[in-house]
Amino acid sequence: MNLEEDREKLIEHLRYEIEDEQVLNAMAQVRRELFVPSSSRRFAYEDRPLPIGEGQTISQPFIVALMTQALELTGTEKVLELGTGSGYQAAILAELVRQVITVERLQKLARTARRTLETLGYTNVEVHLATRTLGWPAEAPYDAIMVTAAAPQIPQMLLDQLIVGGRLVIPVGSRWEQDLLQVIKQQEGTTVKNLTPCRFVPLIGDEAWNEE
Ligand code: SAH
Repeated sequence: MNLEEDREKLIEHLRYEIEDEQVLNAMAQVRRELFVPSSSRRFAYEDRPLPIGEGQTISQPFIVALMTQALELTGTEKVLELGTGSGYQAAILAELVRQVITVERLQKLARTARRTLETLGYTNVEVHLATRTLGWPAEAPYDAIMVTAAAPQIPQMLLDQLIVGGRLVIPVGSRWEQDLLQVIKQQEGTTVKNLTPCRFVPLIGDEAWNEE
């Protein structure tokens, strides 16, 4: 098992569809195997989602890269992520921006992610425990928002936490299949671009799904 070599191969594979060199660089920096259970380490650089416990998953690397690229980051941003999960996506963002605020509703995952990110030395990421209100209004507005769980519609609550001109990347659809949307907040209304069909675990809360 040579994970370093596997990681290089994955980046070469992502290069076919991801153009943003900064995003590819960040993906080359962060060791995905440190964010998955040890039993899955050997699959860390296969381009697929993996279980992280509590019925949740770490997204497929291609989707992580695509979502990060769609935020169109320049480096100065304060970014909000909903759905910390393992903390992997937060680490990718932390490589690319000034500040990352990430929220997770499951205490156990939030705790593990916080510990992983701390151990890796990220000082620009805050992990918070989510409430039923989506996002983290206390530190709004954000330059960009990424939602890594599926919503039934674009939540107004999140648009309210975004600057005008800011990007929101979010999977929207049913509980089982969604479209990954890039939403740009305008002075009035939004511009929406459909990036790809996708499949995420449900976002739970107000303006989203109820817990089963
Ligand atoms: N980005 C993660 C994967 C996220 S999986 C990673 O890189 O590993 C989606 C996560 O969203 C799950 O852990 C789930 O518990 C969480 N979640 C669901 N609803 C949420 C909400 N309203 N606020 C914050 N997190 C939520």
